[in-house]
Amino acid sequence: MAQDLRTFLDRVKRDNPEDFLVVSREVDPAFEITAITVKLEQEAKRRPIILFEKVKGTAFPVLTNLHAGRSRLAAAIHAKPDEMQRAYLRAMEKPIPPKVVAKAPVKEVILTGDQIDLYKLPQILHHQEDAGAYITAAISFAKEPNGDTWNCAYNRLMIKSRDTTSIHLTLAKHLWEYQRAAEAQGKALAVAFAIGAHPAIALGCLAIGSIDEDERAIMGGLLGEPLELVKCESSDLLVPAHAEMIIEGEILPHERTAEGPFGEFTGYSLGERQREVLKVRAITHRRDAIFQDITVGHLDHLMLSTTPIEANLYRAVRAMVPTVKAVRVPAPFTCYVSIEQRISGQAKNAILAVLGADLYMKRVVVVDHDVDIFNDRQVNWAIATRCQPDRDIAIITNARGSDLDPSTKEDGNTAKWGVDATAKPSLASFTPRHRVPKEVWQRINVKDFAGR
Ligand code: MN
Repeated sequence: MAQDLRTFLDRVKRDNPEDFLVVSREVDPAFEITAITVKLEQEAKRRPIILFEKVKGTAFPVLTNLHAGRSRLAAAIHAKPDEMQRAYLRAMEKPIPPKVVAKAPVKEVILTGDQIDLYKLPQILHHQEDAGAYITAAISFAKEPNGDTWNCAYNRLMIKSRDTTSIHLTLAKHLWEYQRAAEAQGKALAVAFAIGAHPAIALGCLAIGSIDEDERAIMGGLLGEPLELVKCESSDLLVPAHAEMIIEGEILPHERTAEGPFGEFTGYSLGERQREVLKVRAITHRRDAIFQDITVGHLDHLMLSTTPIEANLYRAVRAMVPTVKAVRVPAPFTCYVSIEQRISGQAKNAILAVLGADLYMKRVVVVDHDVDIFNDRQVNWAIATRCQPDRDIAIITNARGSDLDPSTKEDGNTAKWGVDATAKPSLASFTPRHRVPKEVWQRINVKDFAGR
């Protein structure tokens, strides 16, 4: 299977041409790319992949909204849309280690030293409050200092000079852990970023699990073959050979710079913080490279991130409650779970499993299996009619959560809560739901009474 973005795009153009929009008119990277993408979604109810061929101030075309369609993401990992979670779990259970290759299309152009100029890249401003131009589709590849594990993640990069960006490392997550370990020894941490990647690589990079789990092998599991990697120019790091572009750099120890505000998945533009500094050591790219953008905080971003989160949470709940039916992440920091509760207390265990399996999770609602968690109205009905807050809400104070939650007093230090909205003591013994007798329901044909 081809591991590059452009082959995937060709497939979409062939199989679903209405899913691919080419904009030939010149656009301004200041807000216009985001405005066009979001207006198309909200007003025209369309969410195609969009290729902006001419972007003011740069020679690179910009591709965005790649992940805004569930069927596209599913097709990328050879699954039907309703089988995505199962396909993702399979890749987590059967990861395929990557392999190193000598030649790579991403090396067609190699820029080092004075040739490095981040201002030649599209200077995309997404939302009004943003502090500057951000690179939003950069997938990091890093190796544990003095160790042998690897990590991949999305990290937003704010362009600060020709060869410098700030980097947001989520507090307490894996790359942050690597950086703190390197910094304690006074060392820089080498990190390289792939921009313009096959959606299987994007989905794999967002896998949530232990720090030892190798996202590159999950990417392989999703691709169905080993991810092909090539060595960097400025370090021993390995990066996807078929990416459109690689930015190689290192995070400097004991240096911080102003970063943000930046409009995020939370729906907020969170304020300025002091964050780590990335020094760029090389840029390599395909001769006619496509620069990928993620329309941050909108479908392109949200649809991509929820599939890996939900798969991991399903895995975690299932380890505790074998009769889990479904898991859904309907909003930031929020998880709905439905279970067929065999014995009292399992709903609480499901709450503990979710809060224990994902740093970001802050509110968990557990319902019985007769409630459809993909219907918010039903979930609200269960909370209203099966839950007594003094008995059924568990609150954990001063835990570590997302550092992008604007409601916390101190970044990332948050309370978490679980809502047990299952019927007590059991669904079978709970007040029955109203219903028309089954035999009447089945024998009535509305056409006999209402004409058509
Ligand atoms: Mn990791």
